Amino acid sequence: MPELPEVETIARGLSRRVIGDTIESVWLGSKPEPLKSPAREIVKALESAQITDVRRVGKHIVFDLKANRATQPSPSPKQRNSLAPPARARRLAATSNSGQWIVHLGMTGRMLVCMPDDPVEKHTHAIVTLASGRELRFVDPRRFGRLSVAHGFKAPGSEPLQVELDRFVTLFRGRKTPIKSALLNQKLLSGVGNIYADEALFRAGIRPRRHTASLSKEDLGRLYLALREVLKEAIKLGGSSISDYVDAGGGEGFFQLRHRVYGRESEPCLVCQTPIRRIVIAGRSSHYCPKCQK
Ligand SMILES: [Zn+2]
Repeated sequence: MPELPEVETIARGLSRRVIGDTIESVWLGSKPEPLKSPAREIVKALESAQITDVRRVGKHIVFDLKANRATQPSPSPKQRNSLAPPARARRLAATSNSGQWIVHLGMTGRMLVCMPDDPVEKHTHAIVTLASGRELRFVDPRRFGRLSVAHGFKAPGSEPLQVELDRFVTLFRGRKTPIKSALLNQKLLSGVGNIYADEALFRAGIRPRRHTASLSKEDLGRLYLALREVLKEAIKLGGSSISDYVDAGGGEGFFQLRHRVYGRESEPCLVCQTPIRRIVIAGRSSHYCPKCQK
C-alpha cells in the first residue's frame, strides 16, 4: 500500500503534468466500490473545472478545482424561460462551486496521465479527459482505492512533516497501545504506514512492541526526528517500489534499497549483525533488531 512518500511522489508528478489544465469530461466505470461519492456528484464537481493544484494530504491525492465561471454563458431571456435549458449551460451552472477531487489509492490504485490512444488498461475505473488532450486514468485491480469530492478536505490526523515536536509528544504520550500501532493510527498522524513506522522505530532505537506510555519525552523526541528523516529521504528517492507501486509517469521509487529492517527478516542488522526479527502486531508485520532497539 502506498504510504506518505509514495503518495507525495505521485502527487508531485501529477502536479507537474496537470496544473492549469481544465477537465472536459468524466467517464466512470460501472463498479461501485471505487466511488466514495455518488457518481453524479463526482461528474458535477469535475466537469468544466480547472485543476489549480495537486497535493498530498495524508495518504490522499487532492486535486483543487476551480469552476470555470468565466466560460459560463449568461442565459438569454428566451433560455431563462425555457423549461429545458441547453445541456451545456445546465452543466456549467452545476459546477459553480469550487471543490476538491480526492483520490485514495488503496492497495493497488494508480493514477496515470495518458494520451487518448494509449490502450485502456483492465481495471480502469475512471477516465478524466483534459482540455490539453491528455487523460487522467484511475486504474485499480483490487478496488480498495476510493474517489470522492469534497470541500475543505482535511485528513483526520496531524501531518508528520509539519507537526511540531510538542504536539507530536502530546499526541503520543500516555497511549496504552504498542508504539507501532500508535504510529499507524491515522487519527494521530496521517500517512505513516508499515514500512516507514518500522524504519523510523529502528532509527530511533525503539522496539515496535514498546508500550507508548513507557516512552520518555526524549524517546519520543528521537522518534520524531527519525520519522521525519526517513520520510524526507524516501520522498527524495521517489518512495519505495514494493509490490506494484509506480509514480504518475510509470517510474519506480528507490527507497526500498535503503530499508534497514522492513522486509529483512533473518538478515543481519546493518549496525550490529544480529538477525532482524519479524513479529506481528495488530495483524501487521513488524521488523526490528533485538539488539539495537529497546
Ligand atoms: Zn542491530
